[in-house]
Amino acid sequence: MLGLMQDYPLLAHTILDHGALNHGEREMVTRSVEGPIRRTTLADVRRRSLRVARALELEGVKLGDRIATMAWNTERHLEVWFGIMGNGAIYHTLNPRLFAEQLDYIVNHAEDEIMFVDLTFVPIVEALQSKFGTVRKYILLTDSEHMPETNLPNAVAYEDWIDSADDDFIWKSFDENTAAGLCYTSGTTGNPKGVLYSHRSNVLHGLMVNQPDVFGLKSEDVILAIVPMFHANAWALSFAAPAAGAKMVMPGAGMDGKSIYELLETEKVNCTAAVPTVWLGLLQYLEETGQKLPYLEKVVIGGAAVPPMMIRKFELDYGVEVIHGWGMTEMSPLGTTGKMKNATSHLDQEARLKLKEKQGRTPYGVEMKVVDDDGNDLPRDGKSAGHLLVKGPCVSSGYFRLDEQTLSDGGWFDTGDIANIDPLGFMQITDRDKDVIKSGGEWISSIDVENAAVGCPGVTEAAVIGLSHPKWTERPLLIVVRDAGSDLEADAVLAYLDGKIAKWWIPDDVVFVDEIPHTATGKIQKMSLREQFKDFEFSK
Ligand code: AMP
Repeated sequence: MLGLMQDYPLLAHTILDHGALNHGEREMVTRSVEGPIRRTTLADVRRRSLRVARALELEGVKLGDRIATMAWNTERHLEVWFGIMGNGAIYHTLNPRLFAEQLDYIVNHAEDEIMFVDLTFVPIVEALQSKFGTVRKYILLTDSEHMPETNLPNAVAYEDWIDSADDDFIWKSFDENTAAGLCYTSGTTGNPKGVLYSHRSNVLHGLMVNQPDVFGLKSEDVILAIVPMFHANAWALSFAAPAAGAKMVMPGAGMDGKSIYELLETEKVNCTAAVPTVWLGLLQYLEETGQKLPYLEKVVIGGAAVPPMMIRKFELDYGVEVIHGWGMTEMSPLGTTGKMKNATSHLDQEARLKLKEKQGRTPYGVEMKVVDDDGNDLPRDGKSAGHLLVKGPCVSSGYFRLDEQTLSDGGWFDTGDIANIDPLGFMQITDRDKDVIKSGGEWISSIDVENAAVGCPGVTEAAVIGLSHPKWTERPLLIVVRDAGSDLEADAVLAYLDGKIAKWWIPDDVVFVDEIPHTATGKIQKMSLREQFKDFEFSK
């Protein structure tokens, strides 16, 4: 027997309706890409999103079309997202930190029709536009006064473009499983893969992160959304904040410690979220200037392991609660948060700080377990480490336009992380199975670097591993076996790589070894290399 409740589709734009109707006066503050701080309200954001939806309709955009954005976190970017979704199209966020070949692949694979571009990224897009065969119009997220000279086809200033449309659009209605957003992840081997969020998953994820032990946003909160909308959905903040009626502060392009500090202070921000590299910049700024953080209550740090020192500084020196978060693009992205719980209340300060180094526990909406190499469940004893598997309504079931099976029996998704789970449910990542390195929150493909390195004359075999780095969390170390009799030097290998891979992918150091360990199937044993070089210190 079915229940007798309304079949109310979970459509992402209904979140904005709710926010605008009940918290329409709530401020939305942006450090604009043009420079000055811009202030608007949730009600205005909705009105302008409706115009975006109408203007897209006038452009002939229809259900399921992919509309790209290459933009910072700003209120304009948010309006564009909701306008696209409310029209039934799919926002496709482009990560400007990817290098040219990846962007070329992604835009063509997604067959984007229209692209919204922030002024900062116009040069990147101009250099590539001849390859973007499907993009027929470029909308620059600015006004006519700041519109640059550009060779982008059909380029128009955003403000002029939405001025041509009314806000009398009525959001489209469709099945809640309709695709809403697309984000390619390069945290896997091979070409980047498209994670296709649905309206349902975006709404559920927004509600999920508003649980008190996750972000727990409420209408009094002021959230500085630093995690980029172009990487893993800004950790759901674009949905969670309007759902709660929280004031949103958007940092635009200002990611340095001083700019972040200014917004924290002037806007009286009480919660915020970003990767460790951003916080390092802020903490450095605070130390240099002697400033404090009187308004900030909690900071969610994730995307990479949080260094113990960072937890201590925030908690002990500045009185800010650290919530360690873990997740991945394929999970919308949030998977766990390390908020203390009732069963940890007896712990002393030292023990609590130590526990915060773990990646945390799942909210309702995520299931997780660790298994051994044969797929057998491992106990939650805080010791047994294995492959970390997840499932839930906000976890991807496959990749856009790829046929490959991504789920194991029982519908589990393998995260590529190696972890243990303790009896209280706190998960701790101990290693990584996937062959990638995360530097400053963005991926470096070790395989691509290795492939480039073996092309260098004198190199027999090359392996790249990520080693911890104080600023970037991880940086690549290149391990090389030289041809017999070769006297190849590190500088020559690095010079060879210059121009063959993205500049920030170039390893920080090269070491020469006699032999690289292999598994029985001939794969390089990265885990044993990581163990062997765990005490290695980069010279720069
Ligand atoms: P992405 O899809 O780019 O968000 O990357 C997801 C991956 O980043 C995870 O599978 C982990 O390997 C890594 N990651 C994310 N958060 C953390 C964390 N708190 N600690 C360690 N690794 C993390």
